Amino acid sequence: MTAILIFFFAHWFLSLFFHSFFLHRYGSHQMFTMSRGWEKFFFVMTFITQGSAFLEPRPYALMHRMHHAYSDTERDPHSPGNFKNVVTMMLQTARTYRGITANKIVVDDQFQGNIPEWDSFMNIARKRIVGIVFGVIYIAYYYIFAPSPWFYLLLPIHFLMGPIQGAIVNWCGHKYGYVRYKNLGDNSRNTFPVDILLLGELYQNNHHKDPLNPNLAHRWYEFDPSYPVIWLMNKLGIIHFQPELARVT
Ligand SMILES: [Zn+2]
Ligand SMILES: [Zn+2]
Repeated sequence: MTAILIFFFAHWFLSLFFHSFFLHRYGSHQMFTMSRGWEKFFFVMTFITQGSAFLEPRPYALMHRMHHAYSDTERDPHSPGNFKNVVTMMLQTARTYRGITANKIVVDDQFQGNIPEWDSFMNIARKRIVGIVFGVIYIAYYYIFAPSPWFYLLLPIHFLMGPIQGAIVNWCGHKYGYVRYKNLGDNSRNTFPVDILLLGELYQNNHHKDPLNPNLAHRWYEFDPSYPVIWLMNKLGIIHFQPELARVT
């Protein structure tokens, strides 16, 4: 049982950290810069930790930039106000993501540029067999360590880790919690204290107010668990905060 819990939480938090750090804060918002070498390193880390449902930086960033520009309007790709439940929102988000990946959905020029892209890597990472191999590894681990077959019920979360975490943030972060900054023209909320489990991503109201701030917590009692790691990376020179953001260091 301990081995299963360690695996589950390690997969949850590692996948989520690289999702938040690399796909969201760097790939979508460029809250900080990094060298091409580090970019490739974190590209691979995001791929490994998200595994069977790796979210590609390009469609992720384009969809996310549309979310900020059209937040909670009809043009928002995943506003909870436009869907009956989280599952229909997740399915539509997946359709939009696939459409952008296949260039069947044309995204406005204003959202393009400054996105980590690595075609030769993605040509391999996108192959169906790669996702299947990750799935087989998860199943094998549970087969060896699960004390009862009931634990297999957790496997779908491993298979869809990135999309599930994205859906939780998109749904709860625009539906539940308190509003500090009013008049933003959207329904963004701070889902405190559940946010700790989402590594800072559920301070959506703070984030929509100040989308380039790498610290999503704005008050002493709010805590963005990803930020101390990001702060340390900046101190170590792995990443570089944008000069205009020096105030947050
Ligand atoms: Zn949002
Ligand atoms: Zn954002």
